[in-house]
Amino acid sequence: MEVSFHREIETLRLGAGDTFHGEGIMAVTKALLQSGVAYVGGYQGAPVSHLLDVLLQAEDLLGELGIHLETCTNEAAAAAMLAASINYPVRGAVTWKSIVGTNVAADALSNLSSAGVIGGAMIIVGEDYGEGASVIQERTQAYAVKSSVWLLDPRPELPTIVRMVEKGFELSEASATPVILELRIRACHVFGTFEASDNRRSEHSSANRFAEPARFDYARLSHPPVTFVQEADKVNRRLPAARAFIRENRLNETLGPEDGDIGIIVQGGMFNVLNGRLAEAGLSDAYGDIGVPTHVLNVTYPLVPEEIAAFCADKRAVLVVEEGGPDFIEKEIGQILRHAELGTKLHGKDVLPMAGEYSPVVVASGLSAFLTRYGRNEAARLDEWVEAVEAHSRTVARDLTAPLPPRPPTFCTGCPERPVFSAMKLLREEAGPVHVAADIGCHAFATFPPFSQGNSILGYGMSLASNAAVSGTQAKRPLSVMGDGGFWHNGLLTGVAGSVFNQDDSVLVIFKNGYTSATGVQDVPSSRPQGEGRGRGLDIESALKSLGVGWVRTVHSYSVSTMRKTLRDALGSGEKGPKVIIADGECQLARQRRVRPAEARAVAEGRRVVRTRFWVDPDVCTGDHACIRLSGCPSLTVKPSADPLKPEPVAHVNNDCVGCGLCGEVSHAAQLCPSFARIEIIRNPNGWDRFRARLSSALIRLFGGYAAPSAPDARPAPHPVPAE
Ligand code: SF4
Ligand code: SF4
Repeated sequence: MEVSFHREIETLRLGAGDTFHGEGIMAVTKALLQSGVAYVGGYQGAPVSHLLDVLLQAEDLLGELGIHLETCTNEAAAAAMLAASINYPVRGAVTWKSIVGTNVAADALSNLSSAGVIGGAMIIVGEDYGEGASVIQERTQAYAVKSSVWLLDPRPELPTIVRMVEKGFELSEASATPVILELRIRACHVFGTFEASDNRRSEHSSANRFAEPARFDYARLSHPPVTFVQEADKVNRRLPAARAFIRENRLNETLGPEDGDIGIIVQGGMFNVLNGRLAEAGLSDAYGDIGVPTHVLNVTYPLVPEEIAAFCADKRAVLVVEEGGPDFIEKEIGQILRHAELGTKLHGKDVLPMAGEYSPVVVASGLSAFLTRYGRNEAARLDEWVEAVEAHSRTVARDLTAPLPPRPPTFCTGCPERPVFSAMKLLREEAGPVHVAADIGCHAFATFPPFSQGNSILGYGMSLASNAAVSGTQAKRPLSVMGDGGFWHNGLLTGVAGSVFNQDDSVLVIFKNGYTSATGVQDVPSSRPQGEGRGRGLDIESALKSLGVGWVRTVHSYSVSTMRKTLRDALGSGEKGPKVIIADGECQLARQRRVRPAEARAVAEGRRVVRTRFWVDPDVCTGDHACIRLSGCPSLTVKPSADPLKPEPVAHVNNDCVGCGLCGEVSHAAQLCPSFARIEIIRNPNGWDRFRARLSSALIRLFGGYAAPSAPDARPAPHPVPAE
């Protein structure tokens, strides 16, 4: 992992009397230390990757506090880690991205929640729901309800977030149940302050270990027959204990005036969006001084029936603001009202949509409909605001975005995964299409133009498994693609072992780029051991061979011709079982983060530094742009042609080029055109460089060509040369 959080980590050492300033996710990290956790772990994924990155870089501080840190290989491992709190009075926290991570962790989570815990156990999930989400749209609430795990959804402001972490551990211990702290993207990144407390050491930790293991107690196992007892215990003891704790500690908040014939019940995490719209209506301000009685659910499961009934008792109607479907909370509130024999009219999904993000405009429209129904004239102000925002959006769409072509997300400049898809595209031209199972990771960008490859995505590391039946029903052998992150997360066992076991006739391409790049460049087991990383350099090829994969080839990612040939061989091989190609090339984002500062230092010290990049000869380029369609590199763009006989714009490599060599490789492999050349830009050139540049210029002039204007430090190579 190449990003440094050392400045932020200093805030984790603040103590009583200090004021913490910073981001929501850092506040959560500090709150964990203030809560006396004995162990932490997790699996990376937006928007909570930051939490794990910071903990990894704060290992010194964790060591001082005796906190054990685990880099889990997937979310199931993280959930299983919480088993320490089943038998021992130690607090622990793990983190992952939801909903996908919760799906992976579901088995361990069910077993954990059945057995229950003695020490506080907390799962911090990044709720990736709504616009900008990178995963399927489902809610963590379903898991909380079905497994009887309490779900905290704090109001996004730092003192509330910190309080909910600290109280969350107490709630977990008071009710013998793990808790989930749900953080939406904006809650992770909200900035603010809170009054810090001292960090606490756990009584037992890696610095003060238990002398003896826990005594054997069958009741702590989630195994029949005690699972029947545990199920009853959830309902008869743990749930009432949780509700009593939530009520007595006022974890939920009732804001605004005590009187009022209408009210709002809102998920804590949605409060800021709601408050902003109330402010537009003149019913609140930026500080949350609300003019409508509002019940904020900082705990969305379990609800506390007495609290809900007391809030609704004197109201004609309440609006439930619950983002996403199904309407778990609204339905339960309806049941509570019925049981309490209250006639309060219930609104929610009748004025707000069942699916999709509750953006400010969506909430404003629903709130306006609710206020209108109950004769509140503030609705008119909201309608005006919605109309103004929509008019502005129409103007932007018409005047700004309309002339621009769609710009799908794509690989970074110089990404090692792009050349593999160029090779696959070239092979498709030659041999026709094959079924391609895509996977989760940066390589999923290949589902967008110019590659448009991929027939299904079934989950992280699941591509090969998802091709099992396809390989048995297709005339042509299917292809699966998977990153090294996905391989270690799930692909090795679920995909490769299953494929060997069943002798599936499939081809798998594993991108060995060295990291889980899509989540912020974290180490995986095969990452090279370096710097502060945890990589152990586990060998993918050995792992494959140990499972009995007989056909394994490792190919340098940027060698398009070799990759195309290897793909062709794999698709035509007579070998039984899976055929695996390891595409070896380091993530360019990670590489540039490492290389650029080192180069800048070398240049400043006056040392000779050579940087390669590519160049298109505008006189040779015909303007058909086949290179762009086969590469998709953001650096490979177009510029107006200076030749009046060539009206089409010519290809042009802009200054972002990192010299990965794909342009030259693609032109060569596709026998496109000779317009590409590799340039070496030499900073702090030595005498030999200057002599060669002058000699080259003189020779070029002698043969009627023109010398490069910056001849002393730029030397065009005569032919495309693949980069190192
Ligand atoms: S982060 Fe790395 S692997 Fe991902 S697109 Fe960028 S260069 Fe490629
Ligand atoms: S060499 Fe070509 S593909 Fe590679 S970064 Fe430069 S322009 Fe992009």
